[in-house]
Amino acid sequence: MKLVLKYGGTSISSTKDIQLVANYVNALSKHNKVAVVCSATSGTTDDLIEISESIKKENKGKAEQLASKIINRHKQVAKQTIKKPELRKNLLQKLDEDFKEFNALIDGMVLLGEVTPRSMDYLNSFGERLSIKLVSSAIHDTGKKSSSLTGKDVGIVTDSNFGESKPLMDTTRLRVSKTIDLLFSKNIIPVIGGFTGADQHGHVTTFGRGGSDYTATIIGSCIKADEIWLMSDVDGLMTADPKIVKNSKLLKEVSYIEAIEMALFGAKQIHPRTFEPLISKKIPMRIRNSFNTKNEGTLVTASPSDLVKNTVKCVSSIRHNGLIDIRGGSMVGTPGTAAKIFATLAKAGINVMMISQNPSESSITIVVKNTDLDKAVNALEMELLGKIIKKLEVTTDVTIIALIGSGMRGTVGVASKVFGAIEKNKINVAMITQGSSELNLAFVVKNSDSNTAVKAIHDAFKLDKIN
Ligand code: ASP
Ligand code: MG
Repeated sequence: MKLVLKYGGTSISSTKDIQLVANYVNALSKHNKVAVVCSATSGTTDDLIEISESIKKENKGKAEQLASKIINRHKQVAKQTIKKPELRKNLLQKLDEDFKEFNALIDGMVLLGEVTPRSMDYLNSFGERLSIKLVSSAIHDTGKKSSSLTGKDVGIVTDSNFGESKPLMDTTRLRVSKTIDLLFSKNIIPVIGGFTGADQHGHVTTFGRGGSDYTATIIGSCIKADEIWLMSDVDGLMTADPKIVKNSKLLKEVSYIEAIEMALFGAKQIHPRTFEPLISKKIPMRIRNSFNTKNEGTLVTASPSDLVKNTVKCVSSIRHNGLIDIRGGSMVGTPGTAAKIFATLAKAGINVMMISQNPSESSITIVVKNTDLDKAVNALEMELLGKIIKKLEVTTDVTIIALIGSGMRGTVGVASKVFGAIEKNKINVAMITQGSSELNLAFVVKNSDSNTAVKAIHDAFKLDKIN
């Protein structure tokens, strides 16, 4: 099989774990063609972002301190991980070249006192530039030839939307398949840096936080991989957060569209665009644990087998949100009310998570993150209070409970089962939404009720017996 394995930062941050990964990839490559995609090591991207923040605040000392922290951490892991002296020396030399460029870039940014999206992408790309060298060298150390490549090296070409770029797939496909096929033909394992590419002028770009998942599926689509495995520190997608529901289960199989919803709500964060390159090619993906490779993980496909028939597949919660009820008699039958409300919120840079309006049109309810609540209320009061809005009622500290499963579509009785279970536990529901796709049913409760609600629904749909 042709496989793309993507390793998250937590799987490749210590000597022991890197060696574990190297041995696993070595063994797997005996019978498969394997391409590896890596995130930065744990905490590195956060530190890089903090360097930019420090430069913006003209705190040169802090920026330099963070840079040394990153450099020392990687040097130390490199020294401890690679056993063959010749390889170790070679790796340290290559890392040193990166460190030089890294320090020069920081000096330049400090000198200018300017942080642009373009310079930030360049800076943030160092996390993966360093991690791929560690992993590739560790694979080499196990006796397999391996080569490290950044997104730019491998041929990922993107638009120039720094910080949130998109790949230009036609060019990318040609370049990436050529690069990787050549390496495969020489039995060399490519270790590719996730998260980054380069625009047509050669400037480094990134896909946004968590973008390594996206890199893995881009690569997979370019080389027509048979499967893509996202390796991290969880076993896969679960029916509920195991910290809340003791008997929650690993989901053996879900569809792309369910996985997209779950990625937004669940414990396993996946970059939102990750599934795009897979859908047209129908390439299956597995979400697996790099520390528990006996477990097959969760298989994500276009059309899961009938094995898992449940209407609802998982229930999750997003805590710490605020609910705003917007009321006003003059909202009734007035076209443009919603447009004005959402334009006001958009102008204030607020992300609205849930929306509902009752048919009488006398109120619109929205949910935003607690951290956005003040800003949202302020913007609405300043712009619209006394005009189309008469009253704002705010509830802080609410939780969104979301049920996901494509089996809900067209199934009668889901809502009554949900709210029956909620009622039995005497929980008050503040708001309900269901899109017409019926893939996702969500409602809002107080933070203090959220765990009870999740457990009640998990029980009501017998999710502990799902597979
Ligand atoms: N290193 C990047 C981040 O932390 C990309 C990734 O991990 O997927 O966001
Ligand atoms: Mg990551």
